[in-house]
This record gives sequence, structure tokens and C-alpha cells, in this order.
Amino acid sequence: MKKHNFYAGPSILPEVTLKKTAEAIHDFAGTGISLMSISHRSKEFVAVMEEAQQLFKDLLNIPEGYSVLFLGGGASTQFAMVPYNLMGKKAAYLNTGAWSTKAIKEAKLFGEVDVVASSDNKNFSYVPKGFTIPEDADYFHITTNNTIYGTEIKYDMDSPVLLVADMSSDILSRPVDVSKYALIYGGAQKNLAPAGVTFVIVRNDILGKTGRAIPTMLNYQTHIDKGSMFNTPPVFAVFALLQTLRWLKDLGGVEAMHGINEKKAALLYDEIERNTFFKGTVNKEDRSLMNVCFVMAEGREDKEKAFLDYATSKGMVGIKGHRSVGGFRASLYNALPLESVEALVACMKEFEQANK
Ligand SMILES: *Cc1c(COP(=O)(O)O)cnc(C)c1O
Repeated sequence: MKKHNFYAGPSILPEVTLKKTAEAIHDFAGTGISLMSISHRSKEFVAVMEEAQQLFKDLLNIPEGYSVLFLGGGASTQFAMVPYNLMGKKAAYLNTGAWSTKAIKEAKLFGEVDVVASSDNKNFSYVPKGFTIPEDADYFHITTNNTIYGTEIKYDMDSPVLLVADMSSDILSRPVDVSKYALIYGGAQKNLAPAGVTFVIVRNDILGKTGRAIPTMLNYQTHIDKGSMFNTPPVFAVFALLQTLRWLKDLGGVEAMHGINEKKAALLYDEIERNTFFKGTVNKEDRSLMNVCFVMAEGREDKEKAFLDYATSKGMVGIKGHRSVGGFRASLYNALPLESVEALVACMKEFEQANK
């Protein structure tokens, strides 16, 4: 039976990424050597790294003056690297969920953290609005897509101070005005690649201002100077990432991708609203295009396991909600085909019919 992969991360990747990467494990770029066993200094791998950086810049229309880095350590290491490199005395954070909360915890190790607003009073079911960003902060940090709670900041906000964004779970899902951000980072395992590579887009002129001594590996400048080759980069994951970037370019880039993502999300959210067995969990205008959370409607709670079993029997994988929200979460990342959303919606309709 065909499986429909709704996992939140690591998650579905384009078929072509899997195919090309599988081939390269046996014979990378015609070298007769495995991708897993070739020097990262070989000209063949250097070409992969350079093309991946350039394509990332092209796809996101990244202006001059920014560097694209591919590092190890995951987005979680960025929670510390950002304040290490950018915080003098004080930074501002918007708390929109579990990942923001973790980023805030790390930032507190480096100085004063002003949490300008938080939606924790309603289990992070909305994105706070109308907050003021303090002008004396060194930067303002946001999480654009809240993978666990299913909310998303779908526009590029204005900030009087450097804007820093964790875009782990919505990078390249829509056009972004990179010029409004000083730094964007994320783990690539949600929308781009297997686990192991972390992307960072950083404006070169913001670094070296804190006066703080920074360990070499945690200093962005090290990786800018060495083109992400200071130490051994995650070779395998970077290769796979490049295949996904090529796939995205062939498909028409982020504008085209955004159109498809809107269509997929609308299909599922419409069914959640229509179907009397289910209800959404977040504020409508803040709904994520990437992670769709829903629970059983009032009075239907006893049917939760039955629906999970039914959907599983129909090939749905990874739709169980995160323990902090419960119910269901369907992640509709770039590589998830419309057909998979249609299959999930069909399950929901069939379940309603069978249980009337
Ligand atoms: C998954 C995720 C992270 C954590 O990423 P790691 O690479 O596992 O450290 C951070 N932020 C967001 C928004 C995420 O979705």
C-alpha cells in the first residue's frame, strides 16, 4: 500500500532527492567512490557545496552582503550561537511555542532577555500581535513556523533592531524578503534534507560587535571565512540538500511552491472545518501552511483512537499530534504531494460516514 508521510521531522523528501542520493552512495559524480567516503576537499564535493550555497541564494533572492552557511549542530545549537555572536547586553524574543521557549532559555545565558509577548496563556494557539520591540535590544528573535503548535508568522515583519528568525520548518515554502532579516537559521530536516545539516543566512556586517571572545566553531565568522569548510561539513546531508534545491528550482521556485502549499493547506483546513468529527486548534489567521493541527470535535473525543487506526490502515503515517497538543498533526512540507492531502481528506470523510 502507498504510504503518505506526514511526519513533522525528519520528514518527506522529494523522490528525486532519494534517488540521486542513493545513486551517489555507490558512485558519487562519476568518481567510482561513495559520497560517504569522499574527501570534502575533493573538487567534486567542493562543487556540491558551492552550488548549494548559490542555489539557496538564488531561490530566496538573497541580496548582496549575506552569507549562506551549512553547519552541523542543528537549529538547537543556533539557539546559543545567535546570542553568543549578536548579544551585547540585551535581546528581545517573541515566545510562540516550544522552540521559542528553548531559544529564550539559551539566550538568558548571555544577557538580559526581554520577552515582548507570549502566547503561552492559550497553549500557543495564536501568534501575539501589537507588541513593541524595544529599540535598545541588540536583536529581536522570532520563530516563523511553530512546528509543534501549528501557527505561522506568514509575513516579514518590520523591526527597529536586527531581526533574527528560526525558519526550521517553513524555509523555502514561500517567498521571504531576506533584506528584512539580519539572520535566518534552521535545521534542514523539515523541508530540505535528511538530518545533519543546519542552514544559516547571515548578514556579514552584523558580526564582531559584542567584544566577546567566541569559541572558533561557534563563531559565524569562522564559517563565513572558510565557506562552511572550516571542519568537515555534513557531506551526505549537503548533497541531498542540493538535490532538493534543484528540484525546487525545476518546479518554479518558492513562488510556485507557495501556491501549491496554499492549495494543500486549504484542502485540509476546509475539511477540518466542514467535518463534524474534527476541529482545528489554532486561531484561523495564524494557521500554519506546514503543520496542520486538529483534534476530535466536542463529544467525539472517544473516537480519537478509532480515527488514528483507520487512517493508519489507509496508509497515513505520522499524523499523531505532539503530546503537548494531542489529537493530530499533519505536516504538509514542500515534498508532500497534493495527492497525500487528498488521501487524508478522503479518510476523514469516510470516517464521518461510517460513524454517523
Ligand atoms: C525542529 C525544530 C527545531 C530543532 O531543530 P534541531 O535541528 O533538531 O535542533 C528548532 N526550531 C524549530 C522551529 C523546529 O521545527
